[in-house]
Amino acid sequence: MKTIDLASSNRSFIQQVEEESGQDVSRCYQCGNCTAGCPMNFAYDLPVNRIMRLIQLGQKDTVLASKSLAYCATCETCTARCPNDIDVATVMDVCRHMARREGKLAVWPVRAFVGSFLKTVETFGRSYEAGTMGMFMAATGRLISDVDLAPAMLSRRKLPFMPHSIKARDEVSAIFKRFREGVHEQK
Ligand code: SF4
Ligand code: SF4
Repeated sequence: MKTIDLASSNRSFIQQVEEESGQDVSRCYQCGNCTAGCPMNFAYDLPVNRIMRLIQLGQKDTVLASKSLAYCATCETCTARCPNDIDVATVMDVCRHMARREGKLAVWPVRAFVGSFLKTVETFGRSYEAGTMGMFMAATGRLISDVDLAPAMLSRRKLPFMPHSIKARDEVSAIFKRFREGVHEQK
C-alpha cells in the first residue's frame, strides 16, 4: 500500500473541488457505499470512495491522473447511495473538468472523443454525430473499429450526414470563447 505524506496535501485543491461542486468532502467517512454500487468500478484504477479520500487529503496529482475520472458514466448511483448526502457524481464531474482544463485527463480515446464532441457543438451550435465520429476517427486512427454500427444508426436516422443549423450558433460559440478566456485568467 502506498503511504501518503500528509505534508504534500494541496489545500487549495480541496477548496476548489468544494467550491465548484458545492459539496463538503470532509463529510465522507469512507463507508464504501458509493463504490459498492458503481457500475464502472470494474474499469477504474481508483474506486470512487478512494477518490473521495484522496480529495480529502489534497492529493491533486493522483486524483487528476486517475483513469476513473474518464470512465465515470455520471450515472449518479454513488450520489443516491451516499448516507451523508454528498453529491459524489458532481465531485467526480468537477475533477474530470479540472483534469481536462489542465490537460491531464487520462485515457486518450476518451479525451479525443470529448474534444471532438465539443468542437462540433462550438462550430454548429449543437451536437453533430457524423462530425464527432469523423474527428474522433481522424484523431485516434480508429478508422474501422465502430463501422459495423453505422448501418443501424443510419437506418434509425441517428447519423445525419449534414449538421442541423440553429439560430444562436454565434452565441454558443461565444460561450466557448468566454470559457477559454476564463481558463487563461485563472492560470
Ligand atoms: S456517477 Fe460515476 S462514480 Fe458515481 S456510480 Fe456512476 S459511474 Fe460510478
Ligand atoms: S457513500 Fe458517501 S460517505 Fe460513503 S464512501 Fe462514498 S462518498 Fe464517502
